[in-house]
Amino acid sequence: MPAETYQLLIGGKWTEAASGERFAVTNPATGEVVATVPDAGAEDARAAIEAAHAAFAEWSALPAHVRARYMRKVYDGIMQNVDRLARVLTEENGKPLAEAKGEVINGAEYLNWYAEETRRVYGEVIPSSSRKTRIWVLRQPVGVVAAITPWNFPSSMITRKIAPALAAGCTVVIKPAEQTPLSALLLGEIIQEAGLPAGVVNIVTTSQPAAVGKEFLENRLVRKISFTGSTEVGKYLMQGAAAQMKRVSMELGGHAPFIVFDDADLDAAVQGAVISKFRNAGQTCICANRIYVQESVAEAFTERLVEAVRKLRVGNGFEEGTSVGPLIDEAAYRKVEEHVSDSLSKGARVLTGGHRLTGAGFDRGYFYAPTLLDQVSDDMRIVREETFGPVAPIMTFRTEDEVIRRANDTPYGLAAYIFTRNLGRTVRVSEALEYGMVAVNDSLLAVPQAPFGGIKESGLGREGGHHGLDDYLEYKYLSVVLD
Ligand code: NAD
Repeated sequence: MPAETYQLLIGGKWTEAASGERFAVTNPATGEVVATVPDAGAEDARAAIEAAHAAFAEWSALPAHVRARYMRKVYDGIMQNVDRLARVLTEENGKPLAEAKGEVINGAEYLNWYAEETRRVYGEVIPSSSRKTRIWVLRQPVGVVAAITPWNFPSSMITRKIAPALAAGCTVVIKPAEQTPLSALLLGEIIQEAGLPAGVVNIVTTSQPAAVGKEFLENRLVRKISFTGSTEVGKYLMQGAAAQMKRVSMELGGHAPFIVFDDADLDAAVQGAVISKFRNAGQTCICANRIYVQESVAEAFTERLVEAVRKLRVGNGFEEGTSVGPLIDEAAYRKVEEHVSDSLSKGARVLTGGHRLTGAGFDRGYFYAPTLLDQVSDDMRIVREETFGPVAPIMTFRTEDEVIRRANDTPYGLAAYIFTRNLGRTVRVSEALEYGMVAVNDSLLAVPQAPFGGIKESGLGREGGHHGLDDYLEYKYLSVVLD
């Protein structure tokens, strides 16, 4: 498939949407149309689901090492095309090219890791209550999976879902975000080249997510919805899935506290805050949203953080030296601006940034200056809601108990960060934080071997590790009476 004629992947064939409609994908750094893709509706989604269902019996029955071989071929295909995949990712999402490459490689690693894990889908033999009875427990794939992914990691959010799904023996229909469908279709091209049986992976791009989502929910052939995106849409899908008791995995929003204690290595904490907050222009579900610094080190930490943030270079992701790209669209920009103006109207102070970037190179994209605020209070929207942009509020605290209480005072529970060199404190605070992941003196989470995911309104289920494979498997209890 030449990249210029992006099409849907259904049952191993590239095809247009039944309606013949296409929609445009734009570069958020320049506003230019990069490509057009088919605009699938319910009919196309149904065809993709049926193709996935038709492929399921053969795929799930393949010996584990054969499925693993296919997955490694996809991994190799991605690794041979990192530059091309990264360029397209930067074009549609805007993130700096180096970040895009990092995402493509990190995403590929899930295929490699789960290819190995395929061999370890073990059942159990359980002692029975009688001499003539045997109890066996089988692990079987859940069936057809509908995977819905967001625009902030257009490549790795897909591989994080298809890798455990394929390893378990499931077949998949992917619906990428409307802002970033190109990375998904390029992955489809690599999957085709790897020779996966027709229908094992299907891709429907659409500008009408509600119509395709409704088909995913109502079609009885779909046995699981795997979703990454906002808590709002996640709740809607979970409610819809309840009607047929479909399995769900939900990777939703976050509102990460980033806590710096007085015994922390301040330089490491500053570096960690910059990476955690400004990677992907602050558009990550695990990015630091609330920085809490212990009073006695607040001034020193803030001074160094301001200095580091002022050095960040905002620009087009293709330009050498760019560390922060544009926001994805006008709506994202408006939310950031609202959070900042709400904070300022309630008494916050801008330490750096605080405005949209305009002028040469910026006028057609959604660029926002990396921003730090202080004199922030707990009633401001920026402390209550996920901002999803390059803005961080800095707050101070006195005691461990106080910061734990404030950090947990949110419906979200995805990631939290603490910086401290005290072992007792590390254990106490990590155990008390109501989050699915706690990074200690670290700022990057998301590796194939670890269970990424949230609690509370940040979601259900895990992606990564053997835990992630469990989410695509069912138990079957066999009771066998011998003659
Ligand atoms: P979003 O929920 O609007 O969109 C995510 C996906 O859902 C897109 O593919 C979109 O087309 C689709 N969608 C929207 N409405 C739908 C519907 N009615 N039916 C079916 N699909 C529908 O989220 P967004 O704003 O694009 O993404 C940002 C959010 O994702 C943030 O809240 C962020 O925290 C979250 N996120 C979470 C993780 C995680 O692993 N927990 C990772 C990345 C992003």
